[in-house]
Amino acid sequence: MSDPSQAGAVTASKGTIHLVHLYPREMSIYGDLGNTRALASRLRWHGYTPVVHDHHPGAPWPHEAHLLVGGGGQDSGQLRVQDDLATHADRLRALAADGLPMLMICGMYQLLGRAFITAEGHRLPGLGILDVTTTGNATRMIGPVVLQTPVGEIVGYENHSGSTVLGEGQEPFGQVRHGQGNNGSDGTEGARTGNVIGSYLHGPILPANPALADHLLEIAVVRATGAWDPEDVDDTIAHQAHDRQVRSLLSA
Ligand code: GLN
Repeated sequence: MSDPSQAGAVTASKGTIHLVHLYPREMSIYGDLGNTRALASRLRWHGYTPVVHDHHPGAPWPHEAHLLVGGGGQDSGQLRVQDDLATHADRLRALAADGLPMLMICGMYQLLGRAFITAEGHRLPGLGILDVTTTGNATRMIGPVVLQTPVGEIVGYENHSGSTVLGEGQEPFGQVRHGQGNNGSDGTEGARTGNVIGSYLHGPILPANPALADHLLEIAVVRATGAWDPEDVDDTIAHQAHDRQVRSLLSA
């Protein structure tokens, strides 16, 4: 908490939090870079110091990681990152099992699953952190989405050819209230195992859903510092946009 007698003074940081963005060049379509920016901004607003590590194929693994994010991309972008992902597969599986929070969108969600078989029949092996399998289709699933999730009502935008099926017992990220979700037929969207969330939702998802951003940050900050001490953040504009999307889609 800030001391009013110190007004104008620089307040001490509550801790340094390392965010790792996997493959921002190849996998950051439809504004998914906004997720990293939202996390870094919110950390600052909550009084923490963010350090963002952009991880590119072939680069050494960052020396510290408290939260991992990855975005969507074309099938060709997924092909370009898959060798590097395989290099770090054991490390990523161990971090996931240890409870490291991860948010993987669309193409990176597919690669955290068991496999992605493209519409042309190429099989990209995944990490198997999420028990999901994705198959490319000729028709794309495109449009705005509303989900019900344990983290609350989530809004976003999907655009994918991949149709994803959850393995038996795999928890989805949420239930579709509007949109297509994993496959357009079973009402599920995304997947969650422990603190690893995979989702098709762009938007980008975190600026549009501050509660989800803070949910991930809380896990990361507790891992890094032992406690989560948030400030009040004015999310009025995000909430207005969120509510407008929910109202217009669910009353349509
Ligand atoms: N190439 C994948 C698909 O179309 C991922 C798309 C994306 O990340 N937006 O299913």
